[in-house]
Amino acid sequence: MPCTIILPSPELYPFGLGAFRLEKGSYGILIFSYGKKYPPSTTAEIVKCFEPVLADYEKSEIIRKILDEWSQQGEWNAYHDGRNIFNHYEKMGDKWPNNFVALGDTVVTFNPSFGQGMTNAVMHAGALKDVLDAHIKDWPLHNFAGVSKKFQKAASAISFNFWAGVEPNDLQWPTTEGERTRFKDFFAYFQKHVWKVACNERDKLFQFNLVSNGLADPPSVFFHPSFLFPVLKSMAFEYLTATKKQVKHE
Ligand SMILES: Cc1cc2nc3c(=O)[nH]c(=O)nc-3n(C[C@H](O)[C@H](O)[C@H](O)COP(=O)(O)OP(=O)(O)OC[C@H]3O[C@@H](n4cnc5c(N)ncnc54)[C@H](O)[C@@H]3O)c2cc1C
Repeated sequence: MPCTIILPSPELYPFGLGAFRLEKGSYGILIFSYGKKYPPSTTAEIVKCFEPVLADYEKSEIIRKILDEWSQQGEWNAYHDGRNIFNHYEKMGDKWPNNFVALGDTVVTFNPSFGQGMTNAVMHAGALKDVLDAHIKDWPLHNFAGVSKKFQKAASAISFNFWAGVEPNDLQWPTTEGERTRFKDFFAYFQKHVWKVACNERDKLFQFNLVSNGLADPPSVFFHPSFLFPVLKSMAFEYLTATKKQVKHE
């Protein structure tokens, strides 16, 4: 088992846990949380906190083993880092300084569980090259006025595509700040089922990762019948199960 990840869920538990093989029998472990709820930072608290999650999860042996080993070792230092902030520098207009650019994480930090930050930063670097190339062609005297503003617009457009995919899901957490709309709620619901389908089939997971890393167009993947039908089936199944439970309850 090269990698095991338990994703947090607004309905079940706020913490996520991942274990992955490094080398020579050693493992890395990752703990993450949503909604301004930081995971505990002592080994005893971690073991206690994850006990119900692990009891729930059939493939948890390796994580349990690592936690057991940890609990016999000394304490460790927790690293707390705030994520999911989109700085709209492109909206600063003339207040944005000339000959100064912001790219990568300085523009936007994403929910790390989708692994998009590096791609976003690399695409920003590519956009900066394009903006400079175009500018130098028109302005041989190398007057760079306006280049920074042009770049911030391009960078923001790149990040928006990633952001639009993860924001609705993040807004499901009550402590997330941002505009909530019915469309975003539906999108998060749809995305939950996309994720369920992707988790059960290797090639769909691959396609999901292509989309979340900006390497494939979301509608062409998720609205393709081979993806859309299982997603609709999963939604219908959830709806029918919930209705059945409700009828029984009444
Ligand atoms: C837990 C976690 C997991 C992640 N997992 C993934 C993943 O799986 N896939 C993925 O694509 N992305 C992932 N990311 C996001 C990814 O790491 C970042 O988006 C990416 O590194 C951003 O690159 P950057 O160049 O903008 O910033 P950084 O990589 O942060 O680079 C900024 C650099 O500037 C230096 N610096 C800061 N201040 C100064 C200063 N005053 N003077 C000089 N240097 C300074 C810093 O030391 C740093 O080296 C993850 C992030 C986290 C926190």
